[in-house]
Amino acid sequence: MGKKEVPRCIALEWKDENMVVKADFAIVNASELVTLKGTSHKPQTRDELRALGIIEDGAVAVKDGRITAVGTTKEVVDKLERGVKIVDASDRLVTPGLIDPHVHLIFAGSREKELELMAVKGIPYLEIKARGGGMPTTLKKTGETSTEELLEKTTRILDTMLIHGTTTIEAKSGYEMTFQGEIRQLEIIKTLDQTHPIDLISTFLAQGIPFEYENKVDQLTTEIVEKWVPEIARRKLAEYCDVFCEKGYYNVEQSRRILEAGRKHGMKLRIHADWLAHSGGARLGAELEVVSADHLLFTPKEDIEALTSKGTIGVFLPTTPFCYVGTYAKAREIINKGLPVALATDLSAANMCESMQMMMTIAILQMKMTTEEALTASTINAAHSIERAHEIGSLEEGKIADIVIFDAPTHKYFPYHYGINLAEKVFKRGKLVAEKGRRIN
Ligand SMILES: [Zn+2]
Repeated sequence: MGKKEVPRCIALEWKDENMVVKADFAIVNASELVTLKGTSHKPQTRDELRALGIIEDGAVAVKDGRITAVGTTKEVVDKLERGVKIVDASDRLVTPGLIDPHVHLIFAGSREKELELMAVKGIPYLEIKARGGGMPTTLKKTGETSTEELLEKTTRILDTMLIHGTTTIEAKSGYEMTFQGEIRQLEIIKTLDQTHPIDLISTFLAQGIPFEYENKVDQLTTEIVEKWVPEIARRKLAEYCDVFCEKGYYNVEQSRRILEAGRKHGMKLRIHADWLAHSGGARLGAELEVVSADHLLFTPKEDIEALTSKGTIGVFLPTTPFCYVGTYAKAREIINKGLPVALATDLSAANMCESMQMMMTIAILQMKMTTEEALTASTINAAHSIERAHEIGSLEEGKIADIVIFDAPTHKYFPYHYGINLAEKVFKRGKLVAEKGRRIN
């Protein structure tokens, strides 16, 4: 059976309370089993973000890659057929696999010197770019790098994500910004989705402006709209179309043209909005009813209200504020407005962090989200933001068995014991794929 072929609806056979539950294995004795039960039908908002559906002394049984039973250890063990392998999770937290819905995945080179200039010396990003640094250098370097090298480097990034408990990501192109280069990036994403345990949801991102298009962004936009997007859609290489709507990148009108082209060719929409300034990205996102609007650092409350009314999910990306932007998205205000929110790493060539645990830590300690909100934002709401909540993001019968056992007695440990990897065992589709910081399958 191929990686993507997991039989559906096994759980339906086990609805009768007297029936024996079949399982390949069962995780038992969890001090906390975070189920997020009943959250799959819609993104969680306001108080709902704090309802984790925790079962103390919890257990979860798995058969053929799907969850067949969830309950207290006694409830599950009493129903199990004989001889099922038992995984003891005493004094451990068990959660759904973490989901990272915003990743700039495919690039070569690194920009650690620039990060220090921004973070320590306070030099603004746009000044670094004006001095000949920034994203255009990554576009050039990536374009010069072989597909084999990119596959190898990216596999290492995915391995690191996996050992930190991430089991699904959204992966963006955007680091070549040539017709052939973007197709190559999306083909690499497709290959990695098939070869790596992590599931990759692909997005074409109109990201940087190559040096040669510096003052010709309208022309580049026309090429994207008329040539790139139709071909990417014809080859079925991207589920989503995304654009960097920001000063120095694509303005609102150029962003609108690109997103409308994506929609016309069958892609769903996401947007990078209000990262460095109030650039109008969130407002445009609301107008186009995008699935997710990401960053939202400088979004005024009327634009948050517009997004809320359109059913968009806001994705918080705490790394750039943590490192150099300084201003965080106003998480409390945005949550109170009723916008559903997710968290993501925003891993990129500018700023590398693979760990969703770290995102939760920053979101809690710096953005004042509660631990419960941060965990919901990293699981079921992240699943909603990539339209996969029917399959992943919670521990419920019938769902894909993406499960993490953390070396922590409660979920409250994410802001308390931080800067290390708490993920002890990671299961992807019911298979143990990482243990004690090593990928094993
Ligand atoms: Zn981004």
